[in-house]
Amino acid sequence: MRNRKPFIAGNWKMYKTCAESVETAKKLAALVSGVTDVDVMIAPPFTALAQVYEAVKGSSVLLGAQNIFWKKEGAYTGEISPGMLVSAGCRYVIIGHSERRQYFGETDNTVNKKIRAALNNGIMPVVCIGETEKEREAGNTFNILDKQIKMGLEGFSPDDAEHMILAYEPVWAIGTGKTATSAQAQEVHLFLRNLIENLFGKDIAGSIRILYGGSVKPDNIGELMAMPDIDGALVGGASLDAQKFAGIINFKK
Ligand code: PEP
Repeated sequence: MRNRKPFIAGNWKMYKTCAESVETAKKLAALVSGVTDVDVMIAPPFTALAQVYEAVKGSSVLLGAQNIFWKKEGAYTGEISPGMLVSAGCRYVIIGHSERRQYFGETDNTVNKKIRAALNNGIMPVVCIGETEKEREAGNTFNILDKQIKMGLEGFSPDDAEHMILAYEPVWAIGTGKTATSAQAQEVHLFLRNLIENLFGKDIAGSIRILYGGSVKPDNIGELMAMPDIDGALVGGASLDAQKFAGIINFKK
């Protein structure tokens, strides 16, 4: 029996103005006000973070960012520091999303630095990993994940790992409508948990939350959450609509 509290996160990507973000966040907070058995997090665009923080303050909705830079401050035009995120009310950050790896040159090495920066500032990283369709078809899924985890988490201690969340997001399932089957996802989640056990020990492997991401919807979340090693979801498209996202969060009902 899993004793890890489910974590369901919404990645709003580059959608929503400040006003739209606040409106959706308020709607969501009202819809999930009675939810205590799932951690709910949203990651609006940077521009809306501070306003969304005010809108969800006191509710059960947690606030995260979609990216972070590892330097404290300096001449890094366009980047956002850990301290800036904290000052906007963020306690979580998505790191290494496949869109950042694909379009913005994110590597396992930059992922590693970003995780360190988040942890040093009391921000919990949601670390994304996942294989492309080509990599899966070539039979390389586990090699790729092994590399992403070992390089991304290189140099971290079990104490550090205790403050991380992992998100397995097969790239071929993101925004495509193609979800991994619950059996495919479970197979990978179990592989990841074993890898974490080898790196950080049994206790951390038993407590770390591993989310699944890739076209999660209200009608497939139940099946995914029934798997013993799937502890929640990172949701893109379906998190933009408060009602739909609440339908995912209320997967038990
Ligand atoms: C994501 O952006 O992390 C994601 C999983 O997107 P979608 O749910 O739209 O596939």
